[in-house]
Amino acid sequence: MAAISAPRGTRDILPEESWKWSYIVQTAGETMKNFGFSEIHLPIFEHTELFSRGVGETTDIVEKEMYTFEDRGGRSITLRPEATAGVMRAAIENNLCVQGASAKLWNWGPMFRHERPQKGRYRQFYQIDAECLGISNAMADVEIISLSIEIFRRLGLKNLEVVINSVGCEKCRPVYRQKLIEYFETRKQDLCETCLARLDRNPLRILDCKKEVCGQIADGAPDIFDSLCDECREHFAEVRAGLERLGFAYTLNKRLVRGLDYYTKTAYEILSGDLGAQNAVAGGGRYDNLSSAVGGNKIPGVGFACGLDRIMLVMEEQGCSFGKMPETEVYVAALDDSARGAAQILTHELRKNKISATSDTSGKSFKAQMKNAGSCKFACIIGADELANDTVAVKNLRDSSQVSVPMNDAVSYIQKNLN
Ligand code: ATP
Ligand code: MG
Repeated sequence: MAAISAPRGTRDILPEESWKWSYIVQTAGETMKNFGFSEIHLPIFEHTELFSRGVGETTDIVEKEMYTFEDRGGRSITLRPEATAGVMRAAIENNLCVQGASAKLWNWGPMFRHERPQKGRYRQFYQIDAECLGISNAMADVEIISLSIEIFRRLGLKNLEVVINSVGCEKCRPVYRQKLIEYFETRKQDLCETCLARLDRNPLRILDCKKEVCGQIADGAPDIFDSLCDECREHFAEVRAGLERLGFAYTLNKRLVRGLDYYTKTAYEILSGDLGAQNAVAGGGRYDNLSSAVGGNKIPGVGFACGLDRIMLVMEEQGCSFGKMPETEVYVAALDDSARGAAQILTHELRKNKISATSDTSGKSFKAQMKNAGSCKFACIIGADELANDTVAVKNLRDSSQVSVPMNDAVSYIQKNLN
């Protein structure tokens, strides 16, 4: 029988990589905590409606990228393609934002999109996500943007660019949308097929088409800034002032619209100069209409998601530090079979004292055991002499020095000498 492989677009994160992932998530988690965000855990699948209504029927995600299936009860279920809609659902369902309360929440985990797999693009990928719910003030936008920048600063990422835009609100976007349709109608013959299909359904998406011709046409499109209502214009000015107050450099890009319909006012991305085509390490913005789209009371929100897989790629590329790779500190070796029981007990005692320790469980020879001890700091060796004297030979594997220690003192001796 042929061996079964992992589905296309998925991959296994093996031990040599997984500790680096933990480092990234831990660094992000500490930063979130410093900014007053609490971690939440949400379901990986939700009712399909949450995304079709929340993310938007005319988006690429809902139109072509979702993993949707009917469960055994006949309900339409979707593996989450993004986190924000689920966070909003949870906030509404659990009354996290009633009577003017706000909630700062973060989470991380796998997302699923049926896209063409390539470097930095997978079908199961991982996001670190932060959402600030219940605050409509531009200061919250600035806090979210600065939080994402601070995570990347702590991770040591270089060569990043923060790009921001305003996509307007339900008052001014329809006006802009109409202006765009009128403009693109005049250039209809040159647009790519996808953009042609977007013309009536979601003309804003034409603005971020990656094809060169469409890009050139989009460059000449009416400027969103000319269409913003007073409220959106003022909000955007406050976001910019806030970023400048904190000393963050950013670029304005009026063609940045993002792929999800729920964005209002602020939209932003953080781009890496070291990723090639899939260059966005984070994306986010404000979504004041999401709560009503998914059937709740009005809860304004602003947040971001960063792509863990892409952060990993950039960090490797730039030679960033992942801290220290966790290694087993002590190897307990039995010189002969009579000492295996004592080795097992000492290993367990070390572990109970939070010292990482290992010993052979497969009946290997002493020589083979010592070979496995290679990367440890200490080897504790027990043979007939040690059993008779109730001692253990502790060998420092860095400098090969060796001392005999009473068995009862072994744990404290290792503890003292580990660092
Ligand atoms: P892109 O333009 O690259 O498709 P996006 O706008 O679809 O990105 P978002 O929905 O904003 O992405 O998700 C936020 C972040 O999640 C992205 O900036 C990226 O780092 C990461 N991401 C999105 N899709 C994928 C994927 N298929 N594989 C790996 N990472 C992804
Ligand atoms: Mg995408």
